[in-house]
Amino acid sequence: MAKKPPRSQSTSGRPKAKSAAGPTGSPLVRPTAEPVAALPVQDPPPPVADTGPTTARGSNPAPIEVPQEVPAEVPAEMPMELPAEAPAEIPIETPIEVPVQAPELKRAAVAAASEPPAKPPAPPRAVGPGGPGEPVTPAAAWPPSARPLRPRPAAAAEPVVEPAPIHAPEPASASAAPVPEAVDALAFPAEPEPVPASMPEAIPKPAPEPSPHPAPPPAQHRPSLFIVHITPEMAPVAKVGGLADVVFGLSRELAIRGNHVEVILPKYDNLRYDHIFELHEVYRDLWVPWYEGAIHCTVYFGFVHDRKCFFIEPHSQDNFFNRGGVYGYKDDVLRFAFFSRAAMEFLWKAGKHPDIIHCHDWQTALVPVLLFEMFQALGMTHPRVCLTIHNFAHQGITGPELLRATGLHRPERFLDYNRLRDNRYVNAINLLKGGIVYSNFVTTVSPRYAFETKDQGQGFGLEPTLHTHHMKYGGVVNGIDYDVWNPEVDRLIPTHYGVENIEGKYANKRALRQRLMLADNDKPIVAFIGRLDPQKGLDLLRHAIFFALERGAQFVLLGSSPDPRINGDFWGLKGMLNDSPDCHLEIGFDEELSHLIYAGSDIMLVPSRFEPCGLTQLISLRYGTIPVVRSVGGLADTVFDKDYSTHPLHERNGYVFQDYDQPGLESALGRAIACYFHHPDHFRELMKNAMRTDYSWNIPGQDYLNIYDYIRNK
Ligand code: ADP
Repeated sequence: MAKKPPRSQSTSGRPKAKSAAGPTGSPLVRPTAEPVAALPVQDPPPPVADTGPTTARGSNPAPIEVPQEVPAEVPAEMPMELPAEAPAEIPIETPIEVPVQAPELKRAAVAAASEPPAKPPAPPRAVGPGGPGEPVTPAAAWPPSARPLRPRPAAAAEPVVEPAPIHAPEPASASAAPVPEAVDALAFPAEPEPVPASMPEAIPKPAPEPSPHPAPPPAQHRPSLFIVHITPEMAPVAKVGGLADVVFGLSRELAIRGNHVEVILPKYDNLRYDHIFELHEVYRDLWVPWYEGAIHCTVYFGFVHDRKCFFIEPHSQDNFFNRGGVYGYKDDVLRFAFFSRAAMEFLWKAGKHPDIIHCHDWQTALVPVLLFEMFQALGMTHPRVCLTIHNFAHQGITGPELLRATGLHRPERFLDYNRLRDNRYVNAINLLKGGIVYSNFVTTVSPRYAFETKDQGQGFGLEPTLHTHHMKYGGVVNGIDYDVWNPEVDRLIPTHYGVENIEGKYANKRALRQRLMLADNDKPIVAFIGRLDPQKGLDLLRHAIFFALERGAQFVLLGSSPDPRINGDFWGLKGMLNDSPDCHLEIGFDEELSHLIYAGSDIMLVPSRFEPCGLTQLISLRYGTIPVVRSVGGLADTVFDKDYSTHPLHERNGYVFQDYDQPGLESALGRAIACYFHHPDHFRELMKNAMRTDYSWNIPGQDYLNIYDYIRNK
């Protein structure tokens, strides 16, 4: 086979620094496939003070790398924006080293390509998910004076309401009229919920508790809700990670169920405008208070594949959203605090009173704080807020300066441990914590991750806050949009296929090999798609590449990192393996190529250190690509080991390992590759099981509607 020419960095390569249950007892925490139990409605008791980090941390059996000593004050040199959220807890990844066996491997691989068929690999080691020798356990914005908004002609379907005469809000200050206590609206538990003694997957699932409340009414009898998503990302126009896919899929599911759904986004300069239809100005003069002045914004409206979207464009020297990327800037916290204020300002001035405001991650976690501390006193008494946390590793930690910028002021109020004060830095504001305290309900993206963040030391310092607010905290597994991620209709793959004509997958495999200049042989293709972030298990990933090649498989990687050091490591690895006919590493972000990889690969590797939900394994399942995953977070909730799961055979859909180490990975990946080679009929059954599993938005959509109903009726 001809030597592959060196390739340059692929496609957009945009910055991808994402600055970003179950826990038993939470009314919404349950396995995906079971209906949500009716939620208890109770009179809210008075606010409960957090117990403090020491107590809760002391109860965590397996803490992650959280500093044991809490600094008394924010260090003097701490900038206004802490550069990276919760930096201390992010696991430090060892630099990627070049393994010594690589040259031999390359030569062997190149030679092997010229003498088909591929030699069958050695039989897999008979080890369980825990590794060799381990017992096998089940897989387990405002001007000087108020200016009226001038609405632009709106789209026919768009009910933009001319706002009532606008009165300039006084900035909240110590002398301001008292504002309602948002926390009064929330339910606090008298007793903390019990902490499970072991990993949920390892214990039998309890029978669902009988609910004293009737089951939720069918969707068609449900009153239509006005739901507004305020979000930093939405696929495909502004996508960095899974959050973008979630907003895209969930907003459509909610609309299909008869609700009026709108989405508010920043108007980034690098939006995918080819996916925005009928984009036009709807408000030219939105002035958003900022520090002692105001920033002039224009609001646009457009359809993104039928989703009604507003895009807020600020005009200021700060250039908040004209930087070529979504995240990765020193003032990220200020940028998204401004966006949160601007979105609230827009809702209020446009006279919009949604039933539900749904916020996402730290970037929009200030919205409930602004709503209940500022806009409620201005008449926005109707909306309830649901906050979804997609990743606790990023929290939006900054100095108290933010209070002045956003008009909240009153540090004596907000720098309170029971409000926005960071649990570790006494002079720091934590936006995500504020969102948890002020929202009417908080979800994260899988029941297992809800449990891990609250009870297993994975909350990056927010464990005590989650304990205090556990009655309004739960996990809902993400869905995927089957209009986009569906091999039967996917316009980005050459051959459509489904569970009934699975052979079509192999035409995509050939197309993938052709595109990536891989040898056409009998080997399985093992793939990885994701951010090259330490969270994703980069050292195991590197090991897996060589392990898979050694076991006679091919390997394809699509990923990128905003960290030049990590990118550099993978560029080095790519250079080293470039001559291999069985390996291709694509360093960059390429949505189109990702579709072909999902369709053309046989095995998808997700060896994450932690994984809130994970979409790659869900997409892979839909494409009949068998996931090999570590049993954490949403991976544990969605992938069930072929050999060791306690799930019925027809629900088993992949390979799972427990421990974050090489033997664990080798066990699961080795079993998958061996099954491909030696038991193709079993492998095909596994593919069918995977493709039949319903990970659409159907069930999570209903879950979120139940949550909305619950908080509306409180
Ligand atoms: P996270 O939100 O932590 O990034 P998820 O698994 O939840 O991880 O979501 C990742 C999403 O981003 C998936 O849709 C995946 O296909 C996509 N993705 C990640 N990296 C890339 C890339 N380099 N090119 C194309 N798509 C990518």
